[in-house]
Amino acid sequence: MMLRNNIVLKEPQFTYTVDMDVKKLLDMEPRAWDFIARLEPKLGAVEYMPKEKLASDLVSMLNASNKGYDHELGIRDTYNDSICPQDKKPRVAVIGSGPSGLFASLVLGELGADVTLLERGQPVEQRGRDIGALAVRRILQSESNFCFGEEDTFGLHLHRDHLSTWSDGKLVTRIGRNTDGVQAVMQTFVHFGAPPNILVDGKPHLGTDKLVPLLRNFRHHLRELGVTIRFNARVDDLIVEDRQVKGIVVSDSELRPGSGSQKLSFDAVVLAVGHSARDTYNMLQQHNVDMSPKSFAVGLRIEHPQELINSIQYSELAAEVQKGRGRIPVADYKIVKSVGEKNAEELDIAEQSRSCYSFCMCPGGQVVLTSTDPSELCINGMSFSRRASKWANSALVVTVSSHDFKPFRSHGPLAGVEFQREFERRAAVMGGGNFVVPAQRVTDFISNRLSVTTLPPSSYRLGVRPSKLHELFPPYITEALQQSIIMIDREMPGFVAKEALLHGVETRTSSPLQISRYGETYESTSLQGLYPIGEGAGYAGGILSAAVDGMYCGFALAKQLSLFHGDI
Ligand code: FAD
Repeated sequence: MMLRNNIVLKEPQFTYTVDMDVKKLLDMEPRAWDFIARLEPKLGAVEYMPKEKLASDLVSMLNASNKGYDHELGIRDTYNDSICPQDKKPRVAVIGSGPSGLFASLVLGELGADVTLLERGQPVEQRGRDIGALAVRRILQSESNFCFGEEDTFGLHLHRDHLSTWSDGKLVTRIGRNTDGVQAVMQTFVHFGAPPNILVDGKPHLGTDKLVPLLRNFRHHLRELGVTIRFNARVDDLIVEDRQVKGIVVSDSELRPGSGSQKLSFDAVVLAVGHSARDTYNMLQQHNVDMSPKSFAVGLRIEHPQELINSIQYSELAAEVQKGRGRIPVADYKIVKSVGEKNAEELDIAEQSRSCYSFCMCPGGQVVLTSTDPSELCINGMSFSRRASKWANSALVVTVSSHDFKPFRSHGPLAGVEFQREFERRAAVMGGGNFVVPAQRVTDFISNRLSVTTLPPSSYRLGVRPSKLHELFPPYITEALQQSIIMIDREMPGFVAKEALLHGVETRTSSPLQISRYGETYESTSLQGLYPIGEGAGYAGGILSAAVDGMYCGFALAKQLSLFHGDI
C-alpha cells in the first residue's frame, strides 16, 4: 500500500511536489502542523524550502517522535519488529553525490543503514540551469558547476557532474569491462533508465542528456530506501575525537548567511568528494589525514572539425557518416605515445620518459569550462547522446608525478594540487579573464609561434584568444606534447591541420593525491570511521571505476556495521 497525498508548494518560479504522505503524517503527528504553519508564510515570498529539505525535515521529525516513516508502508503507527527501528540503525554520512557516493548510498541504503547523502551542489535539474548561466552569461556558481553538483557525474558523475552529470557519459573503463563490479554498475544504470544497449556496445556512451533522467530515477529510488538527500549542503569539517570521526560540520547554502553551520553525529563518514574539492583536501590536511601526492596528467585539448576526423579514420566511408545515412558512428580516436628514452629516479625531471595520451575524446562534442574558481581556468569535453556537433575534441595530456611537483613541496601532500593550480592560473591570465580560453593552431604550437591569422572556429562558448600556449607549461611538458603530436600525425595523416585548434588547459584528469585507506575495510589508515572513496580519494578514474569503488565500499562498511554478512 503506497500512501502518497502529495503536497504541492508553489513559489514564483518553481513548483515543488513533495513525494510523501503528508496528509497521514499530519493526522498522526500534530507537531507537523506547526512545522507547515511556520513554513507557509515563506512560500511565494523571498524564501523557499526545497522539497528535499522539507521531506528530510518531516522524516526526521517522525523519526524523533518514534513513529518512523517507511517508504513502502507510509507512516508506521506501531513499531514493527521486523523493521530495524530508525534510532537503532547505524547512521552513515555519504559526502558527494557523484557515482562513488551514489553507489555507496545505494548499497548502504539497501542493506538498512540510515544514510544521509550530502551534496554541496544543486540537484541535476538546477545544476543544468547554473551551467546554462555559466555558458551563456559567464556566471560561475562556485557550488554548482561542471565539477560540483548532482552527478551528472556519472560523468554523470551515476548509473558530476562534476557525475561530477556534466560529464560525457562514456562508459568505458580500464578496470575490466566484464568484471562483476562493472557489470553490476552497468545493470543498475539500465535499471534506472539507461538504454540496454550499453550492456553490449563496444564503446557504450550515454551522453550528458541521458544522464539527467537516470540520475533523477536513482535519486527517487534512494529516497524510497529512506536515504536522506541534502543538496546545497557543503561539509566543511569533520568532528574528530581520539582519531575517530564522530560527525561532520555542514554549511547549508539555503540558510541565510550568518545562520551558522550544523554539527551532525554519524557512526561512519564516507568521503566521495571528487578530485576538485580542494577545500576538503585542505581540511583533511589539518586533521593530519594520511595522504600523498599521486601521478596524473596535464596538457591541452585539441579540437578538429568532426568531418576531418571522420575522413582520417574512415577514408571514403566517411561520406556515409557525413550524409547521416549509414550506421557508421562519428569517428573517434585513442592515442598513447611514449617520448624520451631515459627513466631513472635520479634523472632530472626534464629527462624522464613520459607518456602522452588522448583523454576523454568526445566525437561530436564540445569543449566546456570545468573551473571551480574564477581566477583559475581549466577545461574538459562533453557531448550529447547524438554526438551531432560539428567538432571532435580530445585532451592530449602528459603524465606528471611527484618529481614534477618539487617546486611545490612545501604544500606536502597537496603539492600536486598546487601544481595544477599554477597552470590553471597561467591559463586564466593568458586568456585575459572572463573565462576566455587561450588557444593556438596546432601548426603554430609545434613551431613555437603565436597564431597571427584568425583562429578556426571553436565549440567553446565563452570565447578563445590567440595565445602562446607553447610557453604555458615547462619545456618538458611542451616538448613531450609537440613530439607526440608529430608522431600522431604520422599515424593519422591530417591530424596536424590548420583547422585544428589547441585550447588550454586540461589539468584535472584525475586526482592529484591519494588518501590512504586499508584495502579490505576501505577505512582511512589515519582516522577511524572515515571511508575515502572514488576519484577524489585516488582510487578511481572515470564514472565506472568510481561507481564500482563506491559499491564495494558500501558492502565493506555494511559488513563492519553488521548489516551484511556475505562475501564481497
Ligand atoms: P565526482 O563525480 O566528482 O563527485 C564528487 C561530488 O562531491 C560532487 O558532486 C561534488 O559537488 C561533491 N562534493 C565535493 N566536496 C564536497 C563537500 N565538501 N561537501 C559536499 N559535497 C561535496 N568519466 C567517464 O568515465 N566518462 C566520461 O565520458 C567522462 N566525461 C567527463 C566530462 C566532464 C566534463 C567531466 C568534468 C568529467 C568527466 N568524466 C568522465 C569523469 C567522471 O565524471 C569522474 O571520473 C567521476 O564523476 C568521478 O566520480 P566520483 O564519485 O569519484 O566524484
